Amino acid sequence: MGIERIGVVGAGQMGNGIAHVAAQAGFEVVMQDISDAALERGLATIRKNLGRQVRKERLTQDQADAVIAKITTTTAVSALAGCQLVVEAATENVELKHKIFRNLSEVLGEEVILATNTSSISITAIAACTARPDRVIGMHFMNPVPVMKLVEVIRGLATSDETLAAVLEVAERMGKTTVESRDMPGFIVNRVLMPYINEAVFAVYEGIASVEDVDTAMKLGTNVPMGPLTLADFIGLDTCLAIMEVLHEGLGDGKYRPCPLLRKYVEAGWLGRKAGRGFYNYGGR
Ligand code: NAD
Repeated sequence: MGIERIGVVGAGQMGNGIAHVAAQAGFEVVMQDISDAALERGLATIRKNLGRQVRKERLTQDQADAVIAKITTTTAVSALAGCQLVVEAATENVELKHKIFRNLSEVLGEEVILATNTSSISITAIAACTARPDRVIGMHFMNPVPVMKLVEVIRGLATSDETLAAVLEVAERMGKTTVESRDMPGFIVNRVLMPYINEAVFAVYEGIASVEDVDTAMKLGTNVPMGPLTLADFIGLDTCLAIMEVLHEGLGDGKYRPCPLLRKYVEAGWLGRKAGRGFYNYGGR
């Protein structure tokens, strides 16, 4: 089955990024969310990001207009009928995702492939909520989607070879590089990244070094573009804690214990850049 029309569930930072790259790759896109305000914000972000590409002369204005013209928005799940692939990028919450997949499975034809952009929830469990577990797969884009090259592809226990092949082809058309991960907590990127960030928080917690010195040490000592605590502030400390908890619970190993200092920051509402304060102060509350 050729994929020409892609549905995106959720118009937040990931959903609008996925809609953007899909439309730019020539797919027709239907972006669905529960609120018109979220859809408007999502489209505004796509316009802003396309505008940046035009200013950098990577796209002409006509090409940017053509990308926008490929995207329709809707609050109705039924409007996703006619898509051959739906990528879900709604809020990271197990019950919510299970409910969305139950609904998609009922509303959409059995041939439609259902992908999820979840960072940590079991693909196998999401697939089991549908009547087509062979056509459910993880498609984990990185943030910001238009910039980051990687897509992790995760098969659930029942995912078919055809579903995998179709999704790999779509990712390639979007100009992404794919890696395949087994359906285990954190997949590849967060399995490796989050314990590293957590360990950096432990280094501060145990008084080994200051926040600035941990970041400078890792930046200049290992040639990464930003230190682990700056990166944690970007990702959101609540997200980092949630993923550490999934690793700790899912793998049952004490080495994944979230650092108490990370927990304290989240309790304080110091969630990173989005809150104006995290390990660094961004002039927020
Ligand atoms: P976000 O909060 O920016 O967006 C979530 C969107 O989902 C919101 O617009 C919300 O209105 C919508 N939504 C909620 N319930 C819905 C429903 N029932 N139907 C349709 N839409 C619904 O979140 P985000 O950062 O874009 O994350 C989305 C997903 O992507 C999560 O699963 C997250 O784990 C994953 N992810 C996030 C990142 C990241 O860095 N933020 C990276 C990779 C993967």
